[in-house]
Amino acid sequence: MPIASPFPLDPPASEMPWIARATELAVDFAQHAAELDETAQLPVDNLRRLHEAGFDTAWLPQSYGGQGLSWLSFGRVLTIVARACPSTATIWLMHLGAAYGLVHLSEEENAGFFARELAAGKRFANALSEPTGGNLFLVPLQVARPVEGGFVLDGAKRFVSGCEIADYLLVNALVDDVPAFFGVSPDDTVKLLPVWDSVGLRATRSQLITFDSTLLPQARRCTKRSEEPNPIPIGLPFLSIGVAEAALEALREHACGRVIPTTGQPLAAMQWVQFAAAGEHVRLRAATLLAAQTAWLADQRSPLVNPSSLEAKLLANEVAKDAAALGVKIGGGSGYLKTSPIQRHFRDAQAGALMAYSAEVCQSEIGKALLSADAGA
Ligand SMILES: Cc1cc2nc3c(=O)[nH]c(=O)nc-3n(C[C@H](O)[C@H](O)[C@H](O)COP(=O)(O)OP(=O)(O)OC[C@H]3O[C@@H](n4cnc5c(N)ncnc54)[C@H](O)[C@@H]3O)c2cc1C
Repeated sequence: MPIASPFPLDPPASEMPWIARATELAVDFAQHAAELDETAQLPVDNLRRLHEAGFDTAWLPQSYGGQGLSWLSFGRVLTIVARACPSTATIWLMHLGAAYGLVHLSEEENAGFFARELAAGKRFANALSEPTGGNLFLVPLQVARPVEGGFVLDGAKRFVSGCEIADYLLVNALVDDVPAFFGVSPDDTVKLLPVWDSVGLRATRSQLITFDSTLLPQARRCTKRSEEPNPIPIGLPFLSIGVAEAALEALREHACGRVIPTTGQPLAAMQWVQFAAAGEHVRLRAATLLAAQTAWLADQRSPLVNPSSLEAKLLANEVAKDAAALGVKIGGGSGYLKTSPIQRHFRDAQAGALMAYSAEVCQSEIGKALLSADAGA
C-alpha cells in the first residue's frame, strides 16, 4: 500500500517530459564522464546540450522568459545529470545559481538583461569563495573601495567552477562594511590561475581567479531583496544523491558479477554485502526524501527551506561518501583500478561535503538551533 505523504515526491505530471529529456541526455553524459575526469576537461558539449534543451531557463519565472517549473523537478533533473556526470551537474548548478541570483536580486532592467543573456546561451559562474574566508562565502572579507562608476576590487576568489567559459561572474565584496554582490563581465584585470588539479570533480576546473583593480560597476550591483529560492542550496543535496546512486549501481554490478571461487557464488550472495548494501540503500532513500521535501518547501516559498536545506545536504553528503566507500570495500582490487567507475565515484563523493556549507558547518548550524534555549518552545 502506498504510504500517505503530506508532500508529493514526484514532480507534477506536466513536468515529466523534462525528466524524460534529462534521462535521454544523461545516457550520453555517462559515456563521457570517465574521459572528462581523466583529462580534467570542461564538459562544454554537455552544458551546451542542456542549454539547447531549454534547461537553463526552465526554473525562471515566466515573466523572465522561463517555464516556472517546480523545484521538485529541478531536484530530479539534477540527480539524473549528477548520476551520469557530476562535474557537469556541478558547473550547471553553479551557472544557474549565479544567473538566477543576478536575475532575482537585480532591479527590473538588469534582471531582464541577465535573463535574456542566460536564454541566449551566455555562461555564468560564482566567484564568491575567498582564499581566507573558506566556508563563509556569503560573508566576504575583501573590501572594494569606491571609485567613479562603482567600486574597485583587488583580491582573489577560488574554486570558481566553470570560470574559464564564464561570460559573467557573480562577485561579492565588502562595501561600506556590508556584503555586496555584482554581476561582472571578466576583463583584462581578471586573471585565472590554473591551479585546479583535484582528486574528484576534476572536470569542474574550479580555478583560482585574481582581481587587479577590477571595477565592480554600481550599475550591475544587486540591490533588491528576493524571496525567490536560489538553485544552489536546493540543488547541493541532489548533487550528492546522484553520486550516491551511481556508486550504489557500480557496487551492485560488481557484487553481482564477481564470483568468489570458494563459494562458487557471486559476492552479492554474501550476507555482509547484503546487509551493508541494504543499509546504504535505505539511507539514500531517506536522503532523497529529505531533499525532495526541501525542494517542496521551496515550491511553497516556505522560510523553512533554509534550515531544511542544511539537513538535506548533511545527510546526502554523508550517504554519498559512505555508499562510495562501501563500493571500494566490495570492489576489492578491481574497484581500485583506474578503469573502474568505483574509484571515480569514491573521489567524486568527497566533494559534496567539502563544498559550502561543509558537512561540519551544517552540523554546527543544526546543532546550535537544536540546542538553543528556546528550541523546545
Ligand atoms: C568541487 C568544488 C566546487 C566549488 N565551486 C565553487 C564555485 O563555483 N564558486 C565558489 O565561490 N566556491 C566554490 N567552491 C568553494 C566551496 O563552496 C567552499 O567555499 C570551499 O570548498 C571551502 O573550502 P576551504 O578549503 O576554504 O574550507 P574551510 O572553510 O577552510 O574548511 C576546512 C575545514 O574546516 C571546517 N570548518 C570551516 N568553518 C567551520 C565552521 N564555521 N564550523 C565548523 N567547521 C568549520 C570545514 O568543515 C572543513 O572541515 C567549490 C568547492 C569545491 C570543492
